[in-house]
Amino acid sequence: MTEFELIRRYFARQPITRSDVAVGIGDDAALLRLPPGQQLAVTSDLLVSGVHFFADVDPISLGHKALAVNLSDLAAMGAEPAWFMLNLSLPEITPTWLDGFCQGLFNLAREFNVQLIGGDTTRGPLAIGIEAHGFVPEAMALRRSGAKAGDKIYVTGTLGDAALVLQHRLAKKHLSESDVAMLSDKLDRPMPRVREGVVLRGVAHSAIDISDGLLADLGHILEMSHVGASIFLDRMSVSPTCQKYIKETGWDNVLAGGDDYELCFTVPQKNIAALEQLHFSCGFHCIGEIESAPGLRIVDESGNAYQPLKMGHDHFAKLK
Ligand code: ADP
Ligand code: MG
Repeated sequence: MTEFELIRRYFARQPITRSDVAVGIGDDAALLRLPPGQQLAVTSDLLVSGVHFFADVDPISLGHKALAVNLSDLAAMGAEPAWFMLNLSLPEITPTWLDGFCQGLFNLAREFNVQLIGGDTTRGPLAIGIEAHGFVPEAMALRRSGAKAGDKIYVTGTLGDAALVLQHRLAKKHLSESDVAMLSDKLDRPMPRVREGVVLRGVAHSAIDISDGLLADLGHILEMSHVGASIFLDRMSVSPTCQKYIKETGWDNVLAGGDDYELCFTVPQKNIAALEQLHFSCGFHCIGEIESAPGLRIVDESGNAYQPLKMGHDHFAKLK
């Protein structure tokens, strides 16, 4: 199969066709219409085999996750996803692998009505780069820099599940088969909180998606907003399955595990009633409060300061 046959067979057949795409795949560039009054939110993520995923990972999950991590970034800005580009480096053309990859990719694309509008394909080590584009009304984007002292801090869904499954896969921790079944999707097929991000416009002061662990990502909000915070371990949002292991594993997975793809956002007192009117299928929890004193204080179940062992994931941490 040539490169062009591959593009035609797997990527040019679109399950989603949007009216704002004047020209999609097939020319030298896509031509797109941005609705009036909207800003374009643009984000990209690169997933490299052996770094971000195991080479033998299920291709359906990989296709899903490659798009999900990008949609999660759009969600964190309060943007509504519209389009994406796909850059693929493949060691070889394996039809069954590509069928699975496209299945995972396009199922999620359909769920959020995002259209693949182009990309690039090359032979090389397995890597997937996606760039996603979304719309957000002028001046309505959720920023990391908007938190103010007195805001309550919330997270969607539950934290630490993906990190716990990963420990099991790396044979650092043994989970029962039923627990693995409960939690695997959180690692393999995270659901980006797109609808939640959109409705938080005008309600939240700031937001970020949690990809590198709560402490690291909330830390970005604090730094960019020039504020501090206290968070409380007895208010942490943890699934019943993950809760069972906290005695053994401690709080690292929840606080610094990474791969959660939940939103962390801050809401001023005046908007809390509006927030409480919102229905999130994944739920949301208040875990703490923004304060003017810089630094992040973690308060344990007895009201004492808790010292985390780990701060979060940093790809270059070991090189420093
Ligand atoms: P060029 O050489 O002009 O960059 P290509 O031959 O690489 O163009 O691509 C031809 C068309 O196929 C372009 O519209 C490009 O965006 C699209 N394309 C290439 N690879 C992919 C891919 N992996 N996914 C989606 N579209 C792709
Ligand atoms: Mg060209």
